[in-house]
Amino acid sequence: MVTRRAQCLCGQLSAVCSGEPVRISVCHCLDCKRRTGSAFSYNVRFAQADVSIEGRAKQFTRTGDEGGRVIYNFCPECGAAVHYRITGVIAIPVGAFADPSFPPPFQSFYHESRRCEWVEINAEPLATFD
Ligand SMILES: [Zn+2]
Ligand SMILES: [Zn+2]
Repeated sequence: MVTRRAQCLCGQLSAVCSGEPVRISVCHCLDCKRRTGSAFSYNVRFAQADVSIEGRAKQFTRTGDEGGRVIYNFCPECGAAVHYRITGVIAIPVGAFADPSFPPPFQSFYHESRRCEWVEINAEPLATFD
């Protein structure tokens, strides 16, 4: 079984994910721009049972546009986000794997309304985040 390791910049906080992800997506929403400091976020979801977390995390809870609760976990030392929890799943910002061969996204959220004009993503365009 394939195992992938995500970690923060200083290495204190990590997440080891086994098996295949349930979803790989990008999101162009305004909150994702803010939290990543980038044009869009690139995220992968695993079943909660397939992820083991090590290290200390500080949490921030956000209510999404669609009313869902997301709990972001980031390293209190270096500030990098390593995982966030949505009911039943754990999402990881793909950049935390630092793996150029990580599989591409298959869905693109807020594709028409919030995407920066110059961003071209080859994935199923969707109107909102679920
Ligand atoms: Zn850190
Ligand atoms: Zn978003």
